[in-house]
Amino acid sequence: MAKNDISNSEVVRLTQELIRIPSHKYVENRESEVAEFIYEYCKKLGLEVEYQEVEGLRRNVIARLRGNGTGKNLIFNGHTDTVPPYEMDFDPFSAEIKDGYVLGRGANDMKGAIACMIMAMANIKNQGKVLGGDIILTAAVGEEEKSDGTEYVVKSGITADGAIVGEPANYGYALGHRGLEWLEIRIQGKVAHGGIPQLGINAISKAAKLITKIEDELMPKLKERQNEWMGPSVMNFGLIKGGTQPSSVADSCIIQIDRRYLPEENVESVIKEYQDIINGLKAEDPEFKAEIIRMESNLMEEYDHAPLIAQPDSEIAKTVYKVLKDFNKKEPTIEKRRGWTDAGVLSTYGQIPTVVTGPGDLKYSHAKDEKIPLVDLVNYVEIYTKIAEEFCK
Ligand SMILES: [Zn+2]
Repeated sequence: MAKNDISNSEVVRLTQELIRIPSHKYVENRESEVAEFIYEYCKKLGLEVEYQEVEGLRRNVIARLRGNGTGKNLIFNGHTDTVPPYEMDFDPFSAEIKDGYVLGRGANDMKGAIACMIMAMANIKNQGKVLGGDIILTAAVGEEEKSDGTEYVVKSGITADGAIVGEPANYGYALGHRGLEWLEIRIQGKVAHGGIPQLGINAISKAAKLITKIEDELMPKLKERQNEWMGPSVMNFGLIKGGTQPSSVADSCIIQIDRRYLPEENVESVIKEYQDIINGLKAEDPEFKAEIIRMESNLMEEYDHAPLIAQPDSEIAKTVYKVLKDFNKKEPTIEKRRGWTDAGVLSTYGQIPTVVTGPGDLKYSHAKDEKIPLVDLVNYVEIYTKIAEEFCK
């Protein structure tokens, strides 16, 4: 396709239309309007479409292109929510085309990918091809929050022999990624006047001790835990907050931690490691009081933000490898340290071999200049079409 034709292509126009319907957490009923758009769009294409009511008007859209039942079924998963615009460098929702990119919130993460998935299904249908297996689009809500959309998909019994999660991968793919847990440690002190601090218990000082102990005892252990497809087990102190003002002994301090864990770890084992350190400090110092909790804002309904477990020998992994290699005309890159995605849910709870690959580049996700190359959109329609034809044949 000539370069000046690209901006008129159906996938670009669809991406623009999706961007123009805001679907972040400050929009009333969030994903409801964009879900309606996707539903109607897929219906017009002649796909079988249904809603899943996840929470009131917040609905997943499930669109299916049926095969003849002799081949493998494939899930295309994408999330319909985006992060809020915050302070973007340009209008987040006008979906302007500039210098070969579509600009806007969700362009890269990941309305572009959803557009590519829909167009790939349309392609196959319009060519009059009937594949052996079904292609099932799961346009799911809530990935940027609690992943309640994809949790709902798995619990509803929708399954397949393989799945693609279309998060941006820069023409590479990911076979695995770590699980994610947010933890808060609340350290309790005792307030006293700053002139007589010996009468109080300073929660900030206690927090400092705890941080040092975590750095000395836990962090080196995490570094040693490595997974071929995910990198090391890691943690980050993301926030600390304590005290009220300079002349009061701080009676409380909280520390928030982001913890990325490997398949051999789990939420219980992760919490236990912090609890052991807390218990050790309590034994040394009777004034040390702290508790650890899982942060509500990151809790799913029932599941955890579990890892995407790599299945390099699965049919879907082999198919993606082959298609990307043919397309790139070289070995595709395997991303080994990417962030968490809904692939963790499909993989761990749905037991579906899952691969992450999609148009765009992770560096533009959540960014002030979120955008996606037009050429990536066009190319990924082709890549997804080939993956589906190969996998479901
Ligand atoms: Zn995303």
